[in-house]
Amino acid sequence: MNFDDTPQEAKFRAEVRSWISANAPKELEGDLAKSSARGRITITNTDLMSASKAWQKKKAQAGWACLSWPKEFGGRGASPIERVIWDQEEGVYGKLSALFIIGHGMCGPTVMTYAMDEVRSRYLPPLAAGEEIWCQLFSEPAAGSDVAGLRSKAEKDGEDWIVNGQKIWTSGAHHSDYGILIVRTDPNVPKHQGLTMFILDMKAPGVEVRPIKQVSGESNFNEVYFTNVRIPDSHRLGNVGDGWNVSLTTLMNERYSIGARAITGFPEMWDYCSSLMLDSGPAIEDRAVRSKLATWATRTNGLKYTTYRTISALSRGERPGPENSIGKLVAGSMLQDIAIFALDLQGAVGVLVEDDQAEAAGQFQKVALSSPAARIGGGTDEVMRNIIAERVLGLPGDIRVDKNVPFNKIPTKGRA
Ligand SMILES: Cc1cc2nc3c(=O)[nH]c(=O)nc-3n(C[C@H](O)[C@H](O)[C@H](O)COP(=O)(O)OP(=O)(O)OC[C@H]3O[C@@H](n4cnc5c(N)ncnc54)[C@H](O)[C@@H]3O)c2cc1C
Repeated sequence: MNFDDTPQEAKFRAEVRSWISANAPKELEGDLAKSSARGRITITNTDLMSASKAWQKKKAQAGWACLSWPKEFGGRGASPIERVIWDQEEGVYGKLSALFIIGHGMCGPTVMTYAMDEVRSRYLPPLAAGEEIWCQLFSEPAAGSDVAGLRSKAEKDGEDWIVNGQKIWTSGAHHSDYGILIVRTDPNVPKHQGLTMFILDMKAPGVEVRPIKQVSGESNFNEVYFTNVRIPDSHRLGNVGDGWNVSLTTLMNERYSIGARAITGFPEMWDYCSSLMLDSGPAIEDRAVRSKLATWATRTNGLKYTTYRTISALSRGERPGPENSIGKLVAGSMLQDIAIFALDLQGAVGVLVEDDQAEAAGQFQKVALSSPAARIGGGTDEVMRNIIAERVLGLPGDIRVDKNVPFNKIPTKGRA
């Protein structure tokens, strides 16, 4: 492992730093820095969507959007390590990219790999420039971890496909223009073989988006219903029946982008404990607090060096593998433990959630409410453990009794 930039990387970093310093929306820096690492981003004097789109557009015009994408699709053709350097230098302004994570990190690479040329030219540049927002329509009420068990279906009708069914937990569907959609096109073959992926116009007739209210009071994800929605065959991604393989491209990119930005909450907890007074004296001198902080410091450093290992691999031109799942698994549960311990330290006051009433501007309350999602979205803890067990440690695979059974022969309650 070598933590230093090569001369070429140092030159690139200097160029990035100088462009960001001259062009970033400095008036938002304070608000962005204060927004909790995981939870609501609050900025004053402008709305988050306009600010996010404006920053993305500015980056695109100067050739700094979607760095690793080819130039013809609105990117820069940069190497993976240059992308890491950009992320490090973009700092708090990177929080403005949250709106585009699914589009840039998952939908774009899938469209780039599997769509026809004219479809790629139509959709990728506006996606890179933040002009159009995308979502990912995979999970269904009975198909989350086991997404291949999905039931939404598409039937061929001339040059179109007719889609009926329902998705759930679709992040950002309420403000999305397009989405990538996986549906069943053949129920007569085993579940992984009868799926096909499409680009869906979220404004098409028959698409109904219903926001889901979360415990935090926000509505970031949705149910999406399809009633006789028409999709032209030109908007198919990959071959008919090959949707499972296409979805693996999306999921690999999803886990890579989630694992690569593992957020632990430790720096915020360290700062909080450093100034907190308990009845017994400064929190930082309390043995129970010190013991917890020591454990989290050790894990945070473990994650930091695991990330450095990934960065070193990228620097050598290698692609990170399934070991990247470790970041999401460890950071997700640590984030939740830290938030809950912070609320314990606050005592009765910990039940207050409003920014102006709660301790530490309510940041730990927000994380406590949102952190369970971090352990579910993009693959649950158990699914991550299965990946690490099977693909990193080489242990025997999970038992999959329905793998080779035609989908319509799998026994199930309430099958139509
Ligand atoms: C914040 C957030 C955003 C999301 N955004 C999107 C999105 O944009 N698009 C989208 O399509 N989906 C999205 N999802 C859905 C997400 O992908 C699913 O919630 C996730 O895959 C788990 O599926 P499930 O909720 O159906 O739970 P289930 O799969 O029903 O799991 C229930 C429990 O069983 C366990 N389990 C399941 N299978 C196994 C196994 N083989 N071995 C051991 N344990 C197992 C799970 O770990 C879990 O504890 C999002 C979810 C969250 C929380």
